[in-house]
Amino acid sequence: MTIALTGGTVLASLDPPSVVTADVSIEDGVVTGLGRAPEEATRVDCTGCLVVPGNVNAHMHLYSALARGMPYRLDPPQDFVQILQRVWWRLDRALDADSIRASALAGGMDALLTGTTTVVDHHASPEAIDGSLDVIAQALADIGLRSVLCYEVTDRDGPERAMAGVEENRRFLKAGWPLARGMVGSHASFTLSDETLGACAEVARDAGVGVHIHVAEDAADQRDAEARFGSRVVPRLARAGVLNGSALLAHCVHVDAEEIEVIRDAGATVAHNPRSNMNNSVGRAPVVALRDGVALGTDGIGADMFAESKTGYWRLREESLKAPPSWPLARLARGATFAGRAFGHPTLGRIEPGAPADLAVLEYPDVTPLEASNAAGHWVFGLGSHHVRDVMVAGEMVVADRILTKVYQDEVAAMAREHAERLWHRMDELPAHPFEPDGAA
Ligand SMILES: [Zn+2]
Repeated sequence: MTIALTGGTVLASLDPPSVVTADVSIEDGVVTGLGRAPEEATRVDCTGCLVVPGNVNAHMHLYSALARGMPYRLDPPQDFVQILQRVWWRLDRALDADSIRASALAGGMDALLTGTTTVVDHHASPEAIDGSLDVIAQALADIGLRSVLCYEVTDRDGPERAMAGVEENRRFLKAGWPLARGMVGSHASFTLSDETLGACAEVARDAGVGVHIHVAEDAADQRDAEARFGSRVVPRLARAGVLNGSALLAHCVHVDAEEIEVIRDAGATVAHNPRSNMNNSVGRAPVVALRDGVALGTDGIGADMFAESKTGYWRLREESLKAPPSWPLARLARGATFAGRAFGHPTLGRIEPGAPADLAVLEYPDVTPLEASNAAGHWVFGLGSHHVRDVMVAGEMVVADRILTKVYQDEVAAMAREHAERLWHRMDELPAHPFEPDGAA
């Protein structure tokens, strides 16, 4: 069956921007034509709408979806490590299979409704490790979101959980989900021994995938690497064999010029998370020096990539008027290319014949002319997730008229609220996590 999105303007590519007036024909999950739709096609009227590639969130923590508005009764954190000890490393320990599913549904719903069609997730649930990635994959399959998943391996919860995390990655990499692929997740240099990091590298190498790891998000990561290994973080990762063209490095805020060179030479992708970095007061990532390798992620602050990409632009622009509006679009395209590789679809993130039909239909009243040369200007100064009307993933309409089609979204929300309350209650019983990095501040 052919579906055709008719009568709209199509932003067919983000990097470089390309704009055409055409019907988009889709069959078997793939874009089959840009032009006049065939007569027999089932039509979706997109007159007056802008059809854009679905966004990719290149660094996400779906498990944080139920943290929105949660109470906090400990002393306020004074630095990044305390944020982890007092918030996130308590939240992840309070997760069980039911709350993992509720988080994935709630976070996934947020993604789809804001026009994000793929999330590259980094999951942690030290009290419910085995099978946790399948719980997430099933929840996302239920709503129709594409994903690249991994389990966050760390030594902070002891050697048994570290090895269970390695095994969960290894197991999931063999699972055959239509819309989910795997990577190997590792927390960060400062919570990983050489042995555990080596085990992650080995599983990734055996499976031919990359390692997804937090890198120098805070200066504490560098201090720890210097104190324990006499080395900075990036050379340490390079020695461990995790730095290559398949690697996904989240943050890279505190990397020096030499490390930037090493990251660029390796061809690794850096997931820049501007809103999270501001929220945690960790500093600014050297995104200009990191050049084309930079993709964008939310780090769990929702999944709205319109908002994230614009914030990244404003933040860069505050520093330099040289930053062009095309920068956030190119960064989104890089994230799509990265995720596309995991699925063997190099054209993910483009609307062209042969590309996966992952796209969003925006009700965008273009009050000024829109063409390739000013599409980036429309993106940063006009477009937003509030324009998202319909969303398609792999050719299936998973959001229609602003409502999820595969589940009852009010029921998902009600179920998530129930699990959020229980999760908050369990978390209340947990003290701050005792793990401390090495190296004095
Ligand atoms: Zn993160």
